[in-house]
Amino acid sequence: MHTDQTQHSVDTLIIGAGLSGLSAAVDLQQAGHNVLLVDKGRGLGGRLAGRRIGDASFDHGAQFMTTRNPRFAATVQDWIAAGVAEEWYSSLPGSSTEGHPRYRGVPSMTAIAKNLATDLNILRSVRVLDIAQRDNQWLANLDNGQQVIAKSMLITAPVPQTIDLLASGNIQLTAADQARLEAIEYEACIAVMAVLDGPSSIPVPGAIALEDGPIAWISDNQQKGVSKIPAITIHGSGDFSAEHFDLDRQITGQQLIDAAQPLLGAGVSDFQVHGWRYSKPTVVDPQPCMLASSDTSLPPLALAGDAFNGPRVEGAVVSGWAAAAALAGLL
Ligand SMILES: Cc1cc2nc3c(=O)[nH]c(=O)nc-3n(C[C@H](O)[C@H](O)[C@H](O)COP(=O)(O)OP(=O)(O)OC[C@H]3O[C@@H](n4cnc5c(N)ncnc54)[C@H](O)[C@@H]3O)c2cc1C
Repeated sequence: MHTDQTQHSVDTLIIGAGLSGLSAAVDLQQAGHNVLLVDKGRGLGGRLAGRRIGDASFDHGAQFMTTRNPRFAATVQDWIAAGVAEEWYSSLPGSSTEGHPRYRGVPSMTAIAKNLATDLNILRSVRVLDIAQRDNQWLANLDNGQQVIAKSMLITAPVPQTIDLLASGNIQLTAADQARLEAIEYEACIAVMAVLDGPSSIPVPGAIALEDGPIAWISDNQQKGVSKIPAITIHGSGDFSAEHFDLDRQITGQQLIDAAQPLLGAGVSDFQVHGWRYSKPTVVDPQPCMLASSDTSLPPLALAGDAFNGPRVEGAVVSGWAAAAALAGLL
C-alpha cells in the first residue's frame, strides 16, 4: 500500500477550520506566519454546517450570528458588503422584546467560512491523529499518512477532543490550565433536516424558538433563502438530545418530526438526522483563549474556540483572534 510521506513544515499548525481556526489563520497569515489548517470535515466551517438532500439545502448547525464585540460587528459589515451575509431578523413573532439583530450567511451559513478561507492553506477531510513535542517544535501525524512540523500550534477542536489530542502526545499543561479545560461542559443537539411536500406555515421570518418540550428550534430554510424547495431544520432541546443521543437516529428524528408536525403545515417527504455531541458549551472558560504553553517548557501552544469566549459564532471568532494575537508575539 502506498503511504504518502509528505512532511509539511510551517510556522503554525491550526487544528480545525471552524470559525475560530479560520479567524486565527487570517490574522496569523496577515502577521507574516506560514499557516496550515487541517480539518477532518469535508466542508469548511465546523459547526457552521450545511447539507443538501436532493434540491433541498439546509443550515443544520449554527442558524445565525449576533454581534456584540465591535471588531466582530465591523467584520459582519464587511461580510455584508462582500455579499456573504445579511440581517435576518431582530425579533421573532410572540417574543416581547426587540432583540439583537440576527445575521445569516448568504446563501447559507457556510458562505462565511468559505469567505474566510479564500487565501488560506487548508487540508480538508484529514484528521490529526496525534500530536507530540519534538525538540522545540510540534509534530502532528495525519490520517493521510502525512506529517506536519510546526513552530507553534493552535487547537480549536471542542475541548473534550482537545484533551484527547493532548493526551495522545502526553502533553502536560499546568494543573491550573488542565483544571480550566476540565471545567468546560457542552450540551448535545440532535438536528433533523426534513424536506417538506409543500411550503411550511412557519411565520415570517421563518423560525420558531420553543422554551419547553423536545424541540428548541425550527427554521424554514426556504423562507430563509437557503433552500430552493420547502425544507426545515429542527433542533432537539439539550435535554431531549442528551436522552436520545445514543438511540436509533431515524426513530429519534421521527419523534422530533411528529412533535413539530402541528407547526409545519405540510408533510415530510424525506429526512436525515445529525447528532452534534458538542453542540454548544454550557460552561465556558472566562478567558478568550488559553496560551497553554505558558509556565511550561512546551513550544508555543494555544487553545481557542467557542468554549473560551461564549457559546456562539461570535465567541469562536473573537477567541480565534485572541489566540492569534497570543501566538503572533511568540515566534
Ligand atoms: C446545532 C447547533 C446550533 C447552533 N446555533 C447557533 C446559533 O444560532 N448562533 C450562534 O452564534 N452559534 C450557534 N451555534 C454554535 C456555533 O456553531 C459555534 O459556537 C461555533 O461554530 C464554534 O466554532 P469553533 O471554531 O469554536 O468550533 P468548530 O466549528 O467545532 O470547529 C472545530 C473544528 O475542528 C475540527 N477537528 C476537531 N478535531 C480534529 C482533528 N483531530 N483533526 C482535524 N480536525 C479536527 C472539526 O472538524 C471542526 O471543524 C450552534 C451550534 C450547533 C451545533
